[in-house]
Amino acid sequence: MSFESELSKGNFLIPKCTECKKIVWPPMEFCDHCMGKTSLKGGDFEGKIMEFSRQNDNYFCIVEIEDSFRIMAKMIQKPHIEQVVTVSKCGISKGNYFFEVI
Ligand SMILES: [Zn+2]
Repeated sequence: MSFESELSKGNFLIPKCTECKKIVWPPMEFCDHCMGKTSLKGGDFEGKIMEFSRQNDNYFCIVEIEDSFRIMAKMIQKPHIEQVVTVSKCGISKGNYFFEVI
């Protein structure tokens, strides 16, 4: 089970260190803090809108997940700074990760 194979199936799982419990991002097999093994955790991760810009009919946001790392995500509704969102869709398109939040 790898982060990318799950993401390509639409599952957003976060790698966490089994030793120190740190979220490891970008996803790696071993923790960059203590070299412990990571395992993928699912859940309703909380994201916060840090910045956004409008592109045609969509908004593209920088979302901070679990106060830990940032992803770029699409949003249909107009976002607000510091709004709390969750990842509603994700996957891999043309080799790039994509995320959509609501
Ligand atoms: Zn660790």
